[in-house]
Amino acid sequence: MLEKIKKIAVLTSGGDSPGMNAAIRSVVRTCAYHGVDCIGIYRGYQGMIEGDFKLMGPRSVKDIVNKGGTILKSARSKEFMTKEGRQKAYTNFKKADIDALIVIGGDGSFTGAQVFNKEFNVPIIGIPGTIDNDIYGTSHTLGYDTALNTVVEVIDKIRDTASSHNRLFFVEVMGRDAGHIALNAGIGAGAEEILIPEENLGLDRLLDSLKRSKLSGKSSSIVVVAEGDKTGKNVFELKDYVEQNMPEYDVRVSVLGHMQRGGSPSCFDRVLASRLGVKAVESLLEGKTNYMVGLLNDKVTLTPIDQAIKGSTEVDRELLKVSDIMSI
Ligand code: ATP
Repeated sequence: MLEKIKKIAVLTSGGDSPGMNAAIRSVVRTCAYHGVDCIGIYRGYQGMIEGDFKLMGPRSVKDIVNKGGTILKSARSKEFMTKEGRQKAYTNFKKADIDALIVIGGDGSFTGAQVFNKEFNVPIIGIPGTIDNDIYGTSHTLGYDTALNTVVEVIDKIRDTASSHNRLFFVEVMGRDAGHIALNAGIGAGAEEILIPEENLGLDRLLDSLKRSKLSGKSSSIVVVAEGDKTGKNVFELKDYVEQNMPEYDVRVSVLGHMQRGGSPSCFDRVLASRLGVKAVESLLEGKTNYMVGLLNDKVTLTPIDQAIKGSTEVDRELLKVSDIMSI
């Protein structure tokens, strides 16, 4: 028979993203709704190892649905990668009478949860929280929509100065392994070219495109570059390359950096976080474990966590085509 779950812990781990607070709030309130205790664990797995726990009630998560970051703090824990570290975490878990764990984070955090489940048989559920949107089994990760809106807003501002001075701007956005932010924000902000990790469009194509746009009368341009773009050149090397080949362009670089992770979550991320939190708690109460909750075709779904970890997301070819047509 299933052991009844009476106490659920929640933590945030890896890189923070907007919407994590809304997810914590949802987990805490869903626990309260079902008469289950909820423990917040500070600083991800490191806090689990150090026993940094706090009992959370519905009022302890007031005024956070609109806040970026995570009130539970996030961390990367080397100690949790060791058997001894995880044993310490489990000892604290048992001492606090915790029955199950919800992990809000990326695929690394899910791997940690899976290892913990295998070793100690603790039921676990993952909620995907990362701005990169690079997790299999969900169309959107928490924070992705907010990051897109942030990036588009900033590129709009850069465009004002680009067009005033007839400049070409390379704007670097986050995405070491995935170009979702670059591709979508690039289309949304009307970029001339978009360079992403999944696809090497080639430097010649970039030059051709810039030459074409000059000939067609464009006096300024924005090129959006994902951190891990496949040309193998970083954004400053790209600037040098274009300046050497097209001296007529005044080229500038803007690296957006960590501001993309911050800010108040969009309405979409708040609603998504609320839905995923409810599903995570209710799945544990139904006796489910080793799943990630996600959104597919606007329905909240469960994906086996090992698939979420191993599977990769693909770049949408239709979007590549749209981007091409828009920059004519
Ligand atoms: P982001 O997408 O922001 O990088 P992430 O969740 O993938 O988020 P990671 O740094 O990869 O971030 O992982 C977070 C933490 O998960 C690690 O610091 C570590 O404590 C734990 N973890 C990751 N992989 C393992 C593993 N194989 N065994 C045990 N713990 C792990």
